[in-house]
Amino acid sequence: MTILKVPPIPSVGRTNQLVFILGNSLGHSLSPAMHNAAFRALRIPWVYTPLEISKAEVKTAIEILRMPNVHGSNVTVPYKEDVLPSLDNLEEKTRWLGSVNTIYRRGDKLWGTSTDGEGFLRSLGSLRKRIKGSKLLLIGAGGAAKALAGALAESGAKRIFIANRSPKRAKELVKSILKKYPRLESGFISMKEAGKILSQCDGVVQATSIGLKIDDPPPISLAHLRPSTLAVELIYHRETAFLKEVRLRRAHCLGGLGMLLHQGALSFEYWTGHKAPLVLMRKTLLDRLAHQ
Ligand code: NAP
Repeated sequence: MTILKVPPIPSVGRTNQLVFILGNSLGHSLSPAMHNAAFRALRIPWVYTPLEISKAEVKTAIEILRMPNVHGSNVTVPYKEDVLPSLDNLEEKTRWLGSVNTIYRRGDKLWGTSTDGEGFLRSLGSLRKRIKGSKLLLIGAGGAAKALAGALAESGAKRIFIANRSPKRAKELVKSILKKYPRLESGFISMKEAGKILSQCDGVVQATSIGLKIDDPPPISLAHLRPSTLAVELIYHRETAFLKEVRLRRAHCLGGLGMLLHQGALSFEYWTGHKAPLVLMRKTLLDRLAHQ
């Protein structure tokens, strides 16, 4: 008989109605503050709380989500792909992407979806219209990068170069995106070549975990970045070396806070069925960042 190791469930005070975020190293996450402010504002008596797990505990964590007092979960680094086999249903966009950041309940079934792609697009605001016909560099091939590749292709990007530490993962992403969007031009590029190709790009998205640690360098050289290129960094809790260098080169840049807000708002709507209080959620994020 296999004995499942249950990860410690944090104490959450008076309510036992829960929404989790599954991941590891969740200390920097601003999602609990953002969602708990939204629950309070809408008088929903739920608590959003981190559940730090190891890779071996992913399956058990999904069993915890089946408890009747648990209303759903976000999934973050590095488990967006690992949760897939344990879910009952996947939305179509998630099935081909193979990345889940939101788990929600419908009846007694657990569904998986990704709000990362649409959250990213919404965070661009009016810049979103610049994607159509553009040449882009996507750095990373993990869960977030996959969702972004789908969103960028869906928005009419002409060409997406994909750079990643592990070529295998990037090549798999290229293969699946080309299968879904045969008119897109896409290909794997090494991290070294990626720096050079920047001179041809209208946009670059930094979607790796490099930058989560304070002394991480930029993932690629930005020497060839054009000032007219839009550079987006998904990390949101600090100005990374990537963003600092983009600013030095006077290119347009955007951090990951807007994406955090919009992907979170979409997740909130899946769990609660209510429109997310965006203004309050944005204010909560900004307040938290200011006091970090
Ligand atoms: P993930 O699935 O674990 O993927 C991690 C990615 O980073 C992979 O491409 C991985 O490359 C690369 N990577 C990790 N460590 C590396 C290193 N030391 N050197 C080179 N490459 C490295 O994570 P994810 O969910 O895609 O998240 C990626 C980043 O986006 C994280 O920083 C996360 O915080 C951020 N994010 C932000 C938002 C937002 O709302 N702003 C939303 C989602 C994610 P390999 O394939 O070679 O391992």
